[in-house]
Amino acid sequence: MAITILKNAIVLDADSGTMSEVQSVVVENDRIADIGPAVRVASDAIVLDVAGRTVMPGLIDAHTHPAVVDHDILAMAEWPPTYVAARAGRALEGMLFRGFTSIRDVGAGEVGLARAVAEGYFAGPRLFYGGKQLSQTGGAGDWRPPSRRVYDDNYYTSAIGVICDGVPEVRRAVREEVRRGAHHIKVYLSGAVDSPSDRVDSTQFSMEELRAIVEEAAAANIYVAGHAYTSRAINRGLEAGVRSIEHGNLMDESSIPLFKQHGAFYVPTIVTYRGLASRARAGQLAADIEVKLREVIDGAMGALAMAHAAGLPIVYGTDLFADMHDLQLQEFVIRSEVQGPADLIRSATTTAARLLQREGELGVVARGALADLLVIDGDPLADIGVLTTPAQTLKLIMKGGQIFKNEL
Ligand SMILES: [Zn+2]
Repeated sequence: MAITILKNAIVLDADSGTMSEVQSVVVENDRIADIGPAVRVASDAIVLDVAGRTVMPGLIDAHTHPAVVDHDILAMAEWPPTYVAARAGRALEGMLFRGFTSIRDVGAGEVGLARAVAEGYFAGPRLFYGGKQLSQTGGAGDWRPPSRRVYDDNYYTSAIGVICDGVPEVRRAVREEVRRGAHHIKVYLSGAVDSPSDRVDSTQFSMEELRAIVEEAAAANIYVAGHAYTSRAINRGLEAGVRSIEHGNLMDESSIPLFKQHGAFYVPTIVTYRGLASRARAGQLAADIEVKLREVIDGAMGALAMAHAAGLPIVYGTDLFADMHDLQLQEFVIRSEVQGPADLIRSATTTAARLLQREGELGVVARGALADLLVIDGDPLADIGVLTTPAQTLKLIMKGGQIFKNEL
């Protein structure tokens, strides 16, 4: 049994938004075995002196796309999956070294990538994946050029979506992802910003299809995450039983009671639009995408403020892809205009863990939880900025009891 002790630790409790007295945190193998001012120390334990720094749970980014490795998603669909995996591995490593010990992949990430991380071939966060995003024909996951009829006949292409129409096809699509071990199902409830043929303000899938998707996911004890911008699309998803709404930039008040009624989570992803907008300004994206981007950025901060005021469970998500991952911690900075540090930390720890259905196991420094721990130089409850400068302030990264960075 491997035992590591972090002594002289000030432990951050996200739910109460408080810091502890000086404690020791005992890690046995991959879990936290004990916490307290006076813990029993085995003679063969490795003792690390945290010297009064903050020990907090590893961060969770609940909306990521490490396997979307390029801006040219259409071209990427033709690339060998081995090549895409190599580039995804680099993205995953970057996330871990920013302090993210778990991520939820909501498009393109799958069992192979999760297994490569779990078995240590890639250094990366533990990966909760949904496989391909379910899209209707002409929906946000349909990247065919107008002249092309056939799409994704081999699942293991690098396409981000799978196209399914009608109740039997959507049921089969969910069952296929369940068969590959999906932790959740991702469905397009509306158009997207960057896809070629659809509109941000559209709705996608019939209610009958959405209910069938939710029913199939529930049968496998997993849940559905829905991509949507407007309340028109969000509300259809919530009524069908979707558990998390992704983006939601153009949401209005009509969605709030439905979130509450269904116990759903809100996952804004504001930083990705800022990242895309700077690329659009640099002439790297098509002109019509810049127009769509302006619409969703304008709405995003208002939607966040409304959700926060209403007390919705808000979860940290970034939606970054290709070469934009280095912005991953900037979502904290953007949201800090609306939310305080304790709220922001909860969004990336305890609330995210509830969304992932891993409450008590992830997002907490507690006995029995997985030993996903960060040592931070500074107090994130006083200044969220100390989380956004990992090169200077992130002194130790532990995932599942394994140390990936130690500058103590
Ligand atoms: Zn996304």
